[in-house]
Amino acid sequence: MPERAAFSSTYVEARGRFIDAARANGARVFEYRDPKDKGPAGESLCLDIAVAGPEDAERVLVAASGTHGIEGFAGSAAQTAWFLGGGAQRLPKKTAMVFFHALNPWGFAHKARGTEENVDLNRNFVDHAQPYPANPGYAEVHPIVTPETWDDATQAALFRRLDELRAKVGEKAFSTAFNGGQFSHADGIYFGGQREQWANYAFREAVLKHVAHAKRAAIIDLHTGIGPWMEHIYLCFHAEGSAARKRARDWWGERAVNLEGVTHKALADYQGVLIDAFAAMLPKAEVTCIVVEFGTLERKEIQRANMAGRWLKYHGARHPALARSVHEQFCEAFYPRDAQWRAAVLEQSREILDRGIAGIGR
Ligand SMILES: [Zn+2]
Repeated sequence: MPERAAFSSTYVEARGRFIDAARANGARVFEYRDPKDKGPAGESLCLDIAVAGPEDAERVLVAASGTHGIEGFAGSAAQTAWFLGGGAQRLPKKTAMVFFHALNPWGFAHKARGTEENVDLNRNFVDHAQPYPANPGYAEVHPIVTPETWDDATQAALFRRLDELRAKVGEKAFSTAFNGGQFSHADGIYFGGQREQWANYAFREAVLKHVAHAKRAAIIDLHTGIGPWMEHIYLCFHAEGSAARKRARDWWGERAVNLEGVTHKALADYQGVLIDAFAAMLPKAEVTCIVVEFGTLERKEIQRANMAGRWLKYHGARHPALARSVHEQFCEAFYPRDAQWRAAVLEQSREILDRGIAGIGR
């Protein structure tokens, strides 16, 4: 499978491959450059957009990578492989495929989940002029998930405390407290930020420029982590009974809406999510949104990786040897090296994108 070459080991490499594949297949490429932050080798950080099909297409399908930085390696490979596999040549009339490459390029380049300011971009799409949504449950989570050391005993103890908290408050309240998003603790986990991130601004600029003209628009936000190894799961946030939710089911099947494979026992009430911002920006269009997660490790290990990522940011520099191995495990949780896992991402993403294109063309 020549598309195997779509997987990269650095942001620079992924970006280059994506742009080359897009241009070689007749797509137009646009860049939104972060004016301030740089990558670890001093490289520029950009949200890159590739438009295949007519620029003024009535139907626009967006597939986005890198909302959570490091997760962008898999999404980037899916995007590049779509071009290498002749996707642009199979597009129906009046339909454009628009790829958003590296939504959080700082996190992608630094192999982290959040932005330079420790912000989860997928919780940052709130109205920053208004009081932030409260997440009172997080105050109890914070001291548990922010240890200064990261040894086995510390981890065992914090999981015991998390289990006790879950038993006390129940699954739903626990999920909302843990990962629904919080705006009160800047050095915590799932921090939504106390200002709009550049990546948030760039995303909205790109939606206005490349999507806002569409009569029918859709977004597939590609992630990794949640879900069974080598499989993918869907998260659909459209309201029960809505036309948008029905479209998601028609396009991707029953599992687009029934949480098949999702290992959370109860989903959080999320704040500031990117696909919700996408829908809100396109009031005149018919909009369909879906999150796809390519599964890696079991839920507890993903939680461990998220807490490890936070430890690395705030305490890793003081423990360089430990930090190196923790970072390696962190990367495996969101971008596994395993060749079969990577082949599965390509095979499954191709079908997911094809279904999106067929759906929006109906
Ligand atoms: Zn993610």
